[in-house]
Amino acid sequence: MPDISMLARYPFLPEIREYVGNISIEELLNSSQYGEAKTLGLSMVFNAFKEEDTMYVTEPFTKLLAYHVAKLFLIALQDPIITQRFANRMRDKIEEHLLGENDEIVEIVANAFRIKFKKPSKEISEMHLQHRNYLVFRLTHFTDFVRYASRLSGENFRLLNQPLLQGWIPVSREIFIKLIREAFVQKFVREIEDRKNDASLLKKYFEEEIKKVREIKNEFIASYSPATLGSVEPRAFPPCIQSILNQLKEGMNLPHQARFYLVTFLHKIGLKNDEILKIFSTVPDFREDMTKYQIAHITGKISGKEYSVPKCETLRAYGLCVRDIAKDKLCMKEWMSHPLLYYKLRKEYFSKHSKSSEGQ
Ligand code: SF4
Repeated sequence: MPDISMLARYPFLPEIREYVGNISIEELLNSSQYGEAKTLGLSMVFNAFKEEDTMYVTEPFTKLLAYHVAKLFLIALQDPIITQRFANRMRDKIEEHLLGENDEIVEIVANAFRIKFKKPSKEISEMHLQHRNYLVFRLTHFTDFVRYASRLSGENFRLLNQPLLQGWIPVSREIFIKLIREAFVQKFVREIEDRKNDASLLKKYFEEEIKKVREIKNEFIASYSPATLGSVEPRAFPPCIQSILNQLKEGMNLPHQARFYLVTFLHKIGLKNDEILKIFSTVPDFREDMTKYQIAHITGKISGKEYSVPKCETLRAYGLCVRDIAKDKLCMKEWMSHPLLYYKLRKEYFSKHSKSSEGQ
């Protein structure tokens, strides 16, 4: 049975029922007895828009309750951007804690998310150390690997780069922990969305705070919003770019290829790196320094190598082409092979159209 200090680090484990099962929502959110937990839980959500998270309370029971207050607050809010930012902040803490835990605790947390894994044989461990230069921690079933690695950037998380041993993928301890943290994010976000029917009941406990956190979010986004897109014509964006931008607006985490494609496209049509940066401000794990670096890298400011915009064929392989969903006539043309061609044609159309209507 995990002890209370461990549960404070992982307050989503099922064993917390032992401690909080008898506390009603009314008591938790209204009683002065839990006032400190409520304050802390609310500040955890407000802090999702700050660079650094400060948590001064060290008493484990209060921390555990604070997580549940934060969760109820997010259910009342039903704001995907705030939920994602909070989940990402928790995700980073979970990863940090797990890296310092013993293997038994890592397995307990993995089991809480029903991640399928098993211990590797000695031969597999040694073979990997020799050929791939890392120690195999666990074998993860490929279905879970695909499910949780899809949002992670880097060669280590591409299925094609993994040795598949009868459906199992050998992973290092660090990668196993990354899969756990992504499992947390997916489960947490789903739970908040699934409880949208409880939002109206919970709102009465958070009236002031809902206004405050929305202001914080809007200020944060406004501080990065591009004032103008210059000569860029957003109406001419191909459906695949529109779809990525919509996901960004909803605060969704984008896969690596989508981010890469968006940067190459926006750069090529003439947006400056600062303007591209602003477009990424709603990404839940937005960090100005890191995003700036990635944009500079893709646009050739650091490496000298400017990456080109992927063709439609490549975008289809990445799963980023939405032609069949959007049923866009231009995309359906046999000769439509590149999103920049789409943009050029549509931009010309809009420019002619606006000129002819000016002349009328
Ligand atoms: S056909 Fe090309 S431009 Fe159109 S949605 Fe697909 S990838 Fe984008």
